[in-house]
Amino acid sequence: MHVFRLRGDFASLDIYSAALFELGARGLEEKRGEVWAYFPQRLELPFPGEWLELPDTDWLEAYKRDLKPVQAGPFVVLAPWHTWEGPQKRLVIEPGMAFGTGHHETTRLALEALAVRVEPGMRVLDLGTGSGILAIAAGLLGAEALGLDIDPSVIPQAEENARINQVPAQFRLGSLEDVEGPVDLVVANLFAELHAYLAESYRKVFGVCGILILSGILLEREALVEEALAAQAFKLLERRQEGEWVCLTYAAV
Ligand code: SAM
Repeated sequence: MHVFRLRGDFASLDIYSAALFELGARGLEEKRGEVWAYFPQRLELPFPGEWLELPDTDWLEAYKRDLKPVQAGPFVVLAPWHTWEGPQKRLVIEPGMAFGTGHHETTRLALEALAVRVEPGMRVLDLGTGSGILAIAAGLLGAEALGLDIDPSVIPQAEENARINQVPAQFRLGSLEDVEGPVDLVVANLFAELHAYLAESYRKVFGVCGILILSGILLEREALVEEALAAQAFKLLERRQEGEWVCLTYAAV
């Protein structure tokens, strides 16, 4: 595991942290005056800091120890060893290298948006599935869910999470161009520039109509997404925000 140690004051660390996730960090750990960002490989980063090498297991074990249950909409996201007494729908995710434990704002916003849009029997596509969390949530709500990801390492992790939750979600390596047949709802937790780039392709995976939930949008880049989606005649239904992160729900009409 490659760790980038970022140093700075509280305000600058906060700004860099969001950017590090966008650049592919799989986890962040806040320490006094530092943030440790965990990456699957080294890359050029335009931030003040340095690379550290840690054995994979050390950081994973420490990270797992500190993990708490997370609530989002009607769901509570739990690790397999957590216990929970509340009435929420239990979504169990084995914390691993794939993004999507529910601890990031973008995942929670997408879970909340999904909960108000998914109806039993819908065909749901989760683009950029990571741990499979959003596809599994759709499955728990009665949908027929497919998760796609361009990172082959996450597919077995998503499959294992679906098995733990006893949800018949399917997972495949691929992206939007690999979708066969119309879907009723797409949820994608990616980033603003990619949503804008994919705007035309999003429209093509729907039949006559459909619902599109876009998460992973930094507040300052929201307009970019809105302009691109409006140009494809998507109609904005709902906007959610947590901190500097925005999630937009559209109707394809
Ligand atoms: N869906 C999970 C969640 O909401 O927590 C994980 C989201 S994570 C921020 C983004 C995921 O999208 C990563 O697993 C990444 O490999 C995948 N990804 C990035 N670009 C993609 C693309 N063009 N098509 C499909 N997957 C992509």
